[in-house]
Amino acid sequence: MSLISAENIHKDYQIGDICVKALKNINFGIEPSSFVSFVGPSGSGKTTLLNLIGCLDKPTSGKLKVAGTDVINLNRKQSALFRGKTIGFIFQDFNLIPVLTVYENIEYPLLMVEVIPPNDRKKRVNELLEAVGMVDQKDKYPDQISGGQKQRVAVARALVTNPRLVLADEPTANLDRKTAYIVINLMKRLRDEFKTTFIFSTHDQKIVGEVDVLYTLEDGELKSAEVKGGGKKNA
Ligand code: ADP
Ligand code: MG
Repeated sequence: MSLISAENIHKDYQIGDICVKALKNINFGIEPSSFVSFVGPSGSGKTTLLNLIGCLDKPTSGKLKVAGTDVINLNRKQSALFRGKTIGFIFQDFNLIPVLTVYENIEYPLLMVEVIPPNDRKKRVNELLEAVGMVDQKDKYPDQISGGQKQRVAVARALVTNPRLVLADEPTANLDRKTAYIVINLMKRLRDEFKTTFIFSTHDQKIVGEVDVLYTLEDGELKSAEVKGGGKKNA
């Protein structure tokens, strides 16, 4: 069964008299443990689509299922709960909390979701610090580490609750090319280790060679779905 299925998704933004058709008739299915990217120029609808998958917004019409749940019918409170339990987020500008250490930033989502015994929490945070290679930096504050290290912390934070799905909107946009590859390959390795599905967006054509499935968006339409090693098919 697909982890995510989207059918005939449309998203319009109404600004005064103007209707922006941000997504037009989008259809796709994403399997568990995939490593998927949506690529397309600025304004093509990537963020809009990730926001829908992340239950941060709702489509104007269409069907959307995430991890077996029809997310369109969830109310605000149900959406927030579903997000907290099912989805991890990684952002372009890292969004670490400046007054918390690396360790505390990674621990933070565990304090939000449900009551977890302190020893289990500690074990989980240490496991993630290890997984992203940040054990030695655990007591530093975000302004004491590099951009690449910040994004590794953000990756650990997104995974600490063991979500089935991690969404990353242009996670490499503020990184140089070499660091971007390191972060992408780290996410790929963690996909294998934790069996988490990673979906990210990018406008960087050079990074997309690293993914399993590549969806190309153009002006709100899904132009193609390319399966690595499986050739190109029309979406
Ligand atoms: P991308 O992430 O690929 O750059 P977006 O999803 O941000 O694209 O935007 C897709 C289209 O929707 C663009 O035309 C953008 O201007 C418009 N758009 C995005 N968010 C809003 C919003 N909150 N209100 C109105 N228009 C929006
Ligand atoms: Mg965007």
